[in-house]
Formats: sequence, C-alpha cells, structure tokens
Amino acid sequence: MPKVVGEQTCEVKVEGAWQAVTLTEARTVYGASSRRCPACHGQVKIAGNFTPTGGYTMYHWRRHPGCPLTPATFSGTPSQHPQAMG
Ligand SMILES: [Zn+2]
Repeated sequence: MPKVVGEQTCEVKVEGAWQAVTLTEARTVYGASSRRCPACHGQVKIAGNFTPTGGYTMYHWRRHPGCPLTPATFSGTPSQHPQAMG
C-alpha cells in the first residue's frame, strides 16, 4: 500500500524483499536498489520532473500494454510485464 496518499509509488528491492516506497524515497533513500513497477513488475527508472509541481516520474524501461499505470499505452487488460522482475 502507498505510504503517502497522492504520491506515485514504486517497489524497491531491499535485502531480498520488494517493498513499496514513494518515488522520492526511491531516489533519495534507495538510490542503488533495483526498482520495479508496483502494477506490472516491469523494471522502471525514475526521473526528476521539472515542472512547477516538482516531484518525480516513473518510466518503464520497456513499455507494456498490460500496465494500468501507463494510461497512454494501457490495453485495458492488466497483465504482468514479460520481463517482470522477481
Ligand atoms: Zn508497469
């Protein structure tokens, strides 16, 4: 579950277990950890979002039509990423 309502989360691998953190935490606290999408488990990268509202944005390394977190490419049917990180 997201720790902070309203902020995008991703999952980072900490001591062998995936846990949900905010994108800000992923960048500032878990900078060296693997990250994955909480919905499709595909590998993601996090970039600074240089808009007036600030914050970070999550990008998938490979787009996946089964991921509801990417509305632009979502097919309507959730499915796991073909290269999901375990
Ligand atoms: Zn995804």
